[in-house]
Amino acid sequence: MDTEEFRRLAHEAVDWIADYRARSARGELPVMSRLAPGEVRAALPAAPPEEPQSLAGVLDELTQVILPGCTHWQDPRFFAYFPSNSSLAAVLGDFLSTGLAQLGLNWQASPALTELEELATDWLRQMLGLSDAWSGVIQDTASTATLVALICARERITDHGAARGGLQASERPLIVYASSQSHSSVEKAALLAGFGRRNLRVVAVDEAFAMDAGALRRAVEADLAAGHAPCAVVATVGSTAVTAVDPLEEIASVTRAHGLWLHVDAAMAGSAMILPECRPLWQGIEQADSLVLNPHKWLGASFDCSTYFVRDPQHLVRVMSTHPSYLRTAADATVRNFRDWGIPLGRRFRALKLWLLIREQGVQGLQQRLRRDLGHARWLAAQVDAAPGWQRLAPVPLQTVCVRHVPPGLEGEALDTHTLAWVRRINESGRAYLTPSMLGERWMVRVSFGVEATEHEHVAALWSLMRDEAEGRR
Ligand SMILES: *Cc1c(COP(=O)(O)O)cnc(C)c1O
Repeated sequence: MDTEEFRRLAHEAVDWIADYRARSARGELPVMSRLAPGEVRAALPAAPPEEPQSLAGVLDELTQVILPGCTHWQDPRFFAYFPSNSSLAAVLGDFLSTGLAQLGLNWQASPALTELEELATDWLRQMLGLSDAWSGVIQDTASTATLVALICARERITDHGAARGGLQASERPLIVYASSQSHSSVEKAALLAGFGRRNLRVVAVDEAFAMDAGALRRAVEADLAAGHAPCAVVATVGSTAVTAVDPLEEIASVTRAHGLWLHVDAAMAGSAMILPECRPLWQGIEQADSLVLNPHKWLGASFDCSTYFVRDPQHLVRVMSTHPSYLRTAADATVRNFRDWGIPLGRRFRALKLWLLIREQGVQGLQQRLRRDLGHARWLAAQVDAAPGWQRLAPVPLQTVCVRHVPPGLEGEALDTHTLAWVRRINESGRAYLTPSMLGERWMVRVSFGVEATEHEHVAALWSLMRDEAEGRR
């Protein structure tokens, strides 16, 4: 493909994307894909073409074969999982990034890539109200950032044991603490960082599903008494099931007293901290060692864009750095080499999408949208509270509302069957998409707000649909 053919096809592709995004924002497609497993593959040749093919008809194929196999995350009636907004300014940034085809192996390999990443993460730091003691880097996902955090915690408590015998030389088991509501990526990170399942403590939660700091303190003291080495706490701000918020201030008093690493997983809810009125939720954040939040969720920076903030970048660099001769440059002493701030060597120009998003929306534009979404959650919570037969299962500090419809006399497995049936009817109707989830022993339904296109009319229509399907009102 030469650049002239690219120009033609890319213009068509941009038109196609704009049409798709307009249709999806109008809610014209079934939100959840209706395809059965295997249907997309079956519609396409199993073997690669021997001869070069023209890409002239590829957009029609996309419309016919690929689109039906897509679930529409930008549809205003998408209330599943969490919002994964891909704001059009960020789409532009991603497209430009791929077109520029930079690879940030070190500062010299693309000075602009490194410096824009420094700038964009620092803009975000300011927007979140964090002190300038924090430095940021963009990772692919929160899962990676939490793995990096636990490796850094391990290396701090062992005084860089990896340079000697690693964990295999440590006499006392190192212990990691997280609540029962923490994300599955925390358990995965602890296992991958070599702590071992036996050394992962699941700390109890209170009635609002937040970590019980007293239980944490007792667990740490019990481990010390048993001769173990408490190493790190992962606190969650905005848990996956119910957006519970662990009490950072109280947790930090435990981590400080015993020299533990405090990592804060605010992957989903961290975006809310661009609103000053939400910041009391993470009171104590300045006492953490590391923090992850995903601008690729609620904020709108198109997957993948996860920001990892640390207070001691020198420790991070010491743990993560490698210095092969072919990557050394004369500038090394005066610049940031982000390859030493995480696991991968190669680095995409992800900062472009975050930078364009913030510029195009302005801090106020982003704040207004998030405030609107918090209002949607409060409105639905009020309807649920006032409707007979409906239960709200957790406080609503942010944009997620957890509900159950309980017909008189229904409980146990019969209630689960009812819950899963009404949510399945909604999802299969294509008119909205919700995620059922377990809370304790029983199924419930999460309604997660935050898609860019969702306005009050969509929320009102959803509530009406929920009542129709659960109460059999039609
Ligand atoms: C979404 C989420 C994660 C995982 O995010 P990835 O970036 O997909 O790894 C972790 N923790 C919380 C609280 C989340 O909401």
